[in-house]
Amino acid sequence: MSDAALAVDLGGTNIRAALVTRDGTIRHLVTCATLAQEGPEAVIHRIVAAVSEVVAQERPDPSVPLGISAPGPLNPTTGVVYFATNLPGWYDIPLRDLLSERLQRPVMIGNDGNNAALGEVLFGVAKGVRHLIYLALGTGVGGGIIAHGQLIEGTRGVGGEVGHVSIDPSGPRCHCGGIGCIEAYASGWAIARDGELLVHSERSTTIRELAAGGPITAAIVAEAARRGDASARAVFERAGRALGVGLAGFVNLFNPEMIAIGGGVAAAADLLLPALLETLPRYTMAQIYPDVTVQLSALGGHTGIFGAAARVFYAEDGALGTART
Ligand SMILES: [Zn+2]
Repeated sequence: MSDAALAVDLGGTNIRAALVTRDGTIRHLVTCATLAQEGPEAVIHRIVAAVSEVVAQERPDPSVPLGISAPGPLNPTTGVVYFATNLPGWYDIPLRDLLSERLQRPVMIGNDGNNAALGEVLFGVAKGVRHLIYLALGTGVGGGIIAHGQLIEGTRGVGGEVGHVSIDPSGPRCHCGGIGCIEAYASGWAIARDGELLVHSERSTTIRELAAGGPITAAIVAEAARRGDASARAVFERAGRALGVGLAGFVNLFNPEMIAIGGGVAAAADLLLPALLETLPRYTMAQIYPDVTVQLSALGGHTGIFGAAARVFYAEDGALGTART
């Protein structure tokens, strides 16, 4: 069992690397730009350079594994990234083996949403929890499910895609090709899309003024809502209701102790949570609703790094949390 793990957070914008101890201390955090447009080989080269810098400073034993949080559907057993929307040219990349070969140490890979769920249990708001639904509200909606202390990954390791469960067969089209997915209502792109529709149909002067001719983002729609723009508020209410309906389905399936919400859009929790908390009990079985609490992540910008380290510790420990009596 390792006292520490090397951890890499591979994002579309930045690569972060660090050493993380079992008690949750991040040591020697290195950040560099991903420059994803340069393609997989250049990005992998930068990951190796960032990790090598951490290794040179912290000198972990060669047996200390590296955990990596990567976007996109991937197979944690084979270590292959199938594709990644924010990383051009990434198709069927055997990332785990490439890194293991170049860094000469064991590497464990996981989807960033699934890893973040593990990170919340080991280091975050869900410490000790064995039954967790984790939702990462970012540009897209990722997440992970932990049941009986085990991460639910499915036959190919792509399971736990909580954002791509449809709550309305006649709802908006999703980036995954589906229709009415939770992501198509409550992600950063969906909220920005709704904001654009409001401006084009001249139903929100506040959003138009805040955008000032630039792109309309979820943060702008949130700001308009906080300034009292009723149409912008309605966007977040609809997103909150979509989350409430979707999460109720997961609660009925898994009877979790906790729903944890992280990701950049969680900064708009003040706008999302009222509708979510009103909707959740309406679609949850009455007997199990009292078992679940809704919490916001406190890992912030370090979610990816903690998740990557948690992937290593979870692989070593085999189970998470402590049984309730
Ligand atoms: Zn989808």
